[in-house]
Amino acid sequence: MLNKFRLLTPGPTPLPERVRLVLARDMIHHRKGEFKEIMAQVQVSLKTLFGTTSTVLPLSCSGTGAMTAAVYNLFAPGQKVLVIEGGKFGQRWREIALSHGLEVESIVVPWGKAVAPQAVEAALKADPSIAGVLIQLSETSTGVLHPVEEVARITRNSETLLLVDGISAVGLSPCPMDAWGVDCLLTGSQKGLMLPPGLALLALSERAWACAEKQTPGCFYFNLIKEREYVHKGQTLFTSPVGLILGLKESLDMLLENGLRALYAKQWALTMLTRASLTAMGLELFAKKDFAWGITSVMLPDGVDGVEVLRMAQEKHGVSMAGGQDHFKGRMARVGHMGWVDWADVVAGIYALNDCLCSVGGYCGSRDYIEQGLAAYRAALAGEPGEPLPLVYNS
Ligand SMILES: *Cc1c(COP(=O)(O)O)cnc(C)c1O
Repeated sequence: MLNKFRLLTPGPTPLPERVRLVLARDMIHHRKGEFKEIMAQVQVSLKTLFGTTSTVLPLSCSGTGAMTAAVYNLFAPGQKVLVIEGGKFGQRWREIALSHGLEVESIVVPWGKAVAPQAVEAALKADPSIAGVLIQLSETSTGVLHPVEEVARITRNSETLLLVDGISAVGLSPCPMDAWGVDCLLTGSQKGLMLPPGLALLALSERAWACAEKQTPGCFYFNLIKEREYVHKGQTLFTSPVGLILGLKESLDMLLENGLRALYAKQWALTMLTRASLTAMGLELFAKKDFAWGITSVMLPDGVDGVEVLRMAQEKHGVSMAGGQDHFKGRMARVGHMGWVDWADVVAGIYALNDCLCSVGGYCGSRDYIEQGLAAYRAALAGEPGEPLPLVYNS
């Protein structure tokens, strides 16, 4: 027990002390005054974070629950949707849509690449009956950032709804829902929001609400129309996740304290730190051009047992990181820099990775990989030229 434990996974993520102390509070009742007041305050902050004037619904479930709620409330069985499948979570959209009896067409994107907006445009042109496009902003299994703003430019001029799984992106990189024309944006509590798992958040555009009003939701639990009525009264349809809502109030206060610009600038700088130091170690970044701001995926050298490297990083250095999924299991590391994570945590993770690659795989990176990472971090925070900060702010 000589090392501090550091959780650099893409969810759950570490919690700030301020949030943990709030989570230690005793229960209050979810239909009475104090709770309703907190719900109202949380609503204001969530609208800022989502960049929307629409109601943001808290749902008691993990992120996948919100994906399910969106599909079951916006579409009727037999309708057709287009799924962008460039990793595990794109596949999940397809599975959810199929479970609701939707017809699914997929654009299969090679892992590590982002979808080409032109491909979405062509698919919608070829079949105007497509009622929805289902995409991730950040595809956590590959570390890719899909061009949601460009895709929204296409869908917002058509009848097609754009549903964005922002589970590993909200609070980490910009997704101003109203400004971009996103019809459904959803996230979970355990990634960018510095909370334990178990709470999801979902917002719909005006035209998406119009679709929901025409549907009978395909399940009893997720009824977004009724949830909205309750949220307007400072409540939720069923018993609220009281502790998580109290924690959410605290985490949103922290996230918005210095404004969204500062929040995203920090995430961008952490991403630059991670990418520069892994590159300086001589490793190959997996998402080359379109990369997420909360997770960095990197290929491990051929022949190195990645599972063992990550196991040792936790045992010897106290750092927990994720490996590759499916065909990349054992060949990839995914360094999370989301939630309550700062530069020193990221440096610890990269040092642990280098050290364990060296002892397990005999692969020892250049000596100054940490200095190079920190130089990139400083330059990013100072807004120096190099990688431009492609910032669009929610407000
Ligand atoms: C984590 C994650 C999910 C799954 O969320 P759960 O909370 O495990 O249900 C879905 N999509 C993306 C992009 C994720 O990162």
